[in-house]
Amino acid sequence: MTRSHTKYLLGEERIPRSYYNIAADLAVPPAPVLHPGTGQPVGPDDLAPLFPMALIGQEVSTEREVEIPGPVREAYALYRPSPLFRAHRLEAALDTPAHIYYKYEGVSPGGSHKPNTAIAQAFYNKEAGVKRLATETGAGQWGSAVAFAGALFGLEVKVYMVRASYDQKPYRRNLMEVYGAEVVASPSLTTEYGKRVLNEDPDSTGSLGIAISEAVEDAAGREDTKYSLGSVLNHVLLHQTVIGQEAIEQMAMAGEEPDVIIGCTGGGSNFAGLAFPFVGRQLRGEGSYRFMAVEPAAAPSLTRGEYRYDFGDTGQMTPLVKMHTLGHDFIPQPIHAGGLRYHGMAPLVSLLKEQGIIEARAVHQTETFEAGVRFARAEGILPAPESSHAIKVAIDEAVRAKEEGTARVILFNLSGHGHFDMGAYERSIAGRLEDHEYPEERIAAALEAVPAVGVAAR
Ligand SMILES: *Cc1c(COP(=O)(O)O)cnc(C)c1O
Repeated sequence: MTRSHTKYLLGEERIPRSYYNIAADLAVPPAPVLHPGTGQPVGPDDLAPLFPMALIGQEVSTEREVEIPGPVREAYALYRPSPLFRAHRLEAALDTPAHIYYKYEGVSPGGSHKPNTAIAQAFYNKEAGVKRLATETGAGQWGSAVAFAGALFGLEVKVYMVRASYDQKPYRRNLMEVYGAEVVASPSLTTEYGKRVLNEDPDSTGSLGIAISEAVEDAAGREDTKYSLGSVLNHVLLHQTVIGQEAIEQMAMAGEEPDVIIGCTGGGSNFAGLAFPFVGRQLRGEGSYRFMAVEPAAAPSLTRGEYRYDFGDTGQMTPLVKMHTLGHDFIPQPIHAGGLRYHGMAPLVSLLKEQGIIEARAVHQTETFEAGVRFARAEGILPAPESSHAIKVAIDEAVRAKEEGTARVILFNLSGHGHFDMGAYERSIAGRLEDHEYPEERIAAALEAVPAVGVAAR
């Protein structure tokens, strides 16, 4: 009998005690966040209407280790440490000499890595006396994570859900409602910005950038409410580093070191969560790895966007951050990996790409679904369409290992399961999925609208 797979499990006492902050190991500090009005670096007071001070502190911290509060570790124990698997049956199916490992974040309530930061954010908001969180969600994973974390810590949650997903994925909405959140389709009539968008285009199917504007407006306008973001920002990536820290320990249990580390990238948080603890080792001279960030060809911020200051939202309400961007007016094509349809990339991931520390790949929708189905048939787990981007490149690497006759150890992040994405799988199996290449003219046009600020600030 061949091994189906090997599972590397850690006990609850091995949940990391601190988050790993990559800012401590960077030779070049990240570019400052700028005030949209003045073009000057923002101070803590500028961000205070949106975030509690503890999170603002983490956003700019350069301490290598940030302690994880006890109640957050206790909540993590519901599903952490997450398992690491060796994919023996996928290796056999590919007939590859490569060893393939994956860290599985789909074991969380909600089914993705996102509760890792939602729980921490809910905790720090509760500590600061906040009563209510406003947030956006694209595919619904982030909204589910905040709704669940809000239920854990007794916070009200309002979710602005991109209209296209609201209509396509009612069960995600229902899950948020089960956890007690209030969910509206975005653009909505409950914010000034939403009304403005609907006035111009009553049939708008929305975008993550629009939904962020609505949630920010909601939070800025209410004393009892703060805003919560599920990716991109430094403190979000920081919280996700529990993934990579556990993976380092689990790879040691397996007696191997990864050569290639792969993650899909929407805003960059699950990739960073797995990769940054390994990047830190490399920056400190303790290891050497190839890092690969995989994005959809329909939203190619890292591979085709420009590295410059831009807004995080369409309504131009957020501070300006330096990142790879397709322009804040970007309206993505309707690919099914909803969690990857965002115009920007985390500043920390963008910086590492600029420095040549990580590589980026853009892949098409049909090939990612083929990879996801292949993975499910070998390993049993149905991957989220987002995660299948990482699977696609992991398979490519394994096939290349076979062609070149070289062994290699591949580690990728299986960021979530696809149980709420059956509509997309149905279309994939029926051969009704399309590929979308984002047109160059549209990138150029969207970048026209990006402000020419921050050039003097560095
Ligand atoms: C949200 C999501 C992503 C993309 O977000 P990142 O911040 O880039 O990680 C990827 N995979 C899953 C399962 C998600 O829910």
